[in-house]
This record gives sequence, C-alpha cells and structure tokens, in this order.
Amino acid sequence: MTTVENVVIIGSGPAGWTAAIYAARAELNPLVFVGVPKTSPSIVLPGGQLMLTTEVENYPGFPDGITGPDMMANFQKQAERFGARKRGEDIVSCDFSEKPFKLETNKGETVLANAVIIATGATANWIGLENEMRLARSGGGVSACAVCDGALPAFRDQPLAVVGGGDSALEEASYLTKFASKVYIIHRRDEFRASKAMQQRIFDSPNAEPLWNKVVTDVLGDTSITGVALKDTVTGEETTLDLRGLFVAIGHTPTTSFLDGTGIELDEAKYIKLDTRSSNTNIDGVFAAGDVADPHYRQAISAAGMGCQAAIDAEHYLSSLSD
Ligand code: NAP
Repeated sequence: MTTVENVVIIGSGPAGWTAAIYAARAELNPLVFVGVPKTSPSIVLPGGQLMLTTEVENYPGFPDGITGPDMMANFQKQAERFGARKRGEDIVSCDFSEKPFKLETNKGETVLANAVIIATGATANWIGLENEMRLARSGGGVSACAVCDGALPAFRDQPLAVVGGGDSALEEASYLTKFASKVYIIHRRDEFRASKAMQQRIFDSPNAEPLWNKVVTDVLGDTSITGVALKDTVTGEETTLDLRGLFVAIGHTPTTSFLDGTGIELDEAKYIKLDTRSSNTNIDGVFAAGDVADPHYRQAISAAGMGCQAAIDAEHYLSSLSD
C-alpha cells in the first residue's frame, strides 16, 4: 500500500523550515522537499535566497549577525531535531483535484499527501552578467536586497548604485541614502515606473542621483566591486562609474510555474493568493508561506512567521479531517 504523508512541505527557506519545525513538534511527521541545487543566474534551492546572503543582521535573536547559509543550516537542524524528514528533489507538478493530493518529483515518483505547504519562495531577477553573479555569490558587494545588506559596514559612506526604476528600486535607494555617500539609480529609460511619492522622495534627496537611459554591461572588481561599465541606451556611449556596492532591484519571480494547471489561484505577477486571514490557498488543504505568497515584505523573518502560520493552519485542517 502506498504511504500517504500527513503534510508535505515544498521548499527549504525560512518559511519551509519554520513550517517543518512547527509541524514536527505537532507530531505531524512532515516531509520537506528541499529541492535540487541550481546554479546561475540564481541559486534557488536548497535553502532559498538566504544562500546568496552573506551576513544577516536583521533577524532577531542574532545580535552579532549570522551568515545566510549558517542560518539555514540551523533552521534545518532544528526541524530535524524534532523529526522532520527531507528529500533532495523538486516537486515538478501537483494534482490537487482529489484527496490525497498527488505530487510528482523530478525523478518521476508520485508522493501522496493529506496536506501540502508550498514554500518555494521567489528569486530576485538579475541582470545576467557573469561578474554580477560571481560577486553576488562571494559577498563582493553585489546584492539583490538593500534592506538585508545595505547597512553592512562595507557600504557606509561609500558610493552605491541601485539598478531599476520600480518601487523596489526607489525604496532601496531611499534606504541606502541613510548610509551611503552617494546613491545612483541606474535606469534603462528616462522615467521611473515607481509611484510619484517614491519618485519625489528620491528627487528630494541630496545624495541620490538618477542616471537615465543607462544599462549595466559589466561589473568591475576582483574580490569586491570597484565599479560598473555602463552603456547609454539612446546614444550608445560607454562609460564607467566607481562604486563600492551594487543593488539590483529589477523585480522578483515567484517559484510557481510547477503549479500551472493545478487550480491554485495566483495574482497577475504569479504570486499565490492567500485568504486574507490565514495561509489557506483557494484549495482546501493546500497552504502557502513565505515569498511565494508575499510580493511585499520578502524578509526572512516575515517568511518564517508565515511558515509558522501555515503549519498551525495545516494542523487544524488535518485534525478537522479526523473529527
Ligand atoms: P517592477 O515594478 O516590475 O520594476 C522593475 C524595474 O526594473 C522596472 O523599472 C524595469 O524597467 C526594470 N527592469 C526590469 N528588467 C530589467 C533589466 N533586465 N535591466 C534593467 N532594468 C530592468 O518591480 P518592483 O519594483 O520589484 O515592484 C514589484 C511590485 O511590488 C510592483 O507592483 C510595485 O509597485 C510593488 N512594490 C510596492 C512597494 C511599495 O508600495 N512600498 C515597494 C516595492 C514594490 P522598466 O521600467 O523600463 O520596465
């Protein structure tokens, strides 16, 4: 007879492992699909986006900071201490049309589950330059999250740049103006798409400067960024700009393509839509947590909080089945 899992958690970032800690402590014997390691342009799983973060300084409880990979190793260790099990595969498709739910792994195996928590996260979009990814992975001053990394000592009183023209880019730029000597906003067009209020904040800032009609064609520097090569999108002129930090804010892509055709409701940007007061998706027994369902906050601590909620919601759902 095929085993039916109580709860399967898909994803192994802060949301997935927190859901696993709570589900394991509730004696639900959760199975976590941590995913298959992926490479360029974005490292996704196992461990999620924190695997690309050198120092995490804003997660409460770590007064001296902790590296992203160490933090994820600790989350995993804590979940395993309470009996969470893991498999190093991806879930490539799901059938939520009948219960138990059917999940197919990248090895072609089918796993049955009474409840599913989707915590597959999102990936920051990158420009796609080799040196950009090299310095992002090595902590060499290239990041996709100013709120996570911008306050690090290496960026204090230094010239920094943000790439992008949306709300995220301007919010990140505005945040960085508190620490940096100068913040350039490198944008490929001559107007921002961000809200007028965000734009005004940047225009009013004495140390923020938009660089219009520019794209980054290379990131310079051996172990740490020293600057970028730019190309003007109108004139084709090529220049360089000295920098000590580069923050890429050109959008995120939630990891939801494996949900195509399942009936799980997504918003226009492909994030999972949740019930406003819980982690319930539109399908009973399927829950979501973390960045895959959160286009707004996207922090490790908020993802972990959502993972906790999803495990509690799954526990209530499973106990309602046995009533
Ligand atoms: P976004 O609105 O999609 O903006 C992405 C920006 O990156 C655009 O300016 C785009 O340029 C640029 N871009 C895209 N691909 C690029 C590339 N390959 N090279 C260079 N530039 C590139 O993304 P977002 O700023 O992350 O915002 C996502 C959603 O969250 C939006 O709905 C936003 O309003 C919302 N948000 C709201 C807040 C807030 O309310 N406080 C904060 C953050 C985000 P183009 O303009 O030329 O397309």
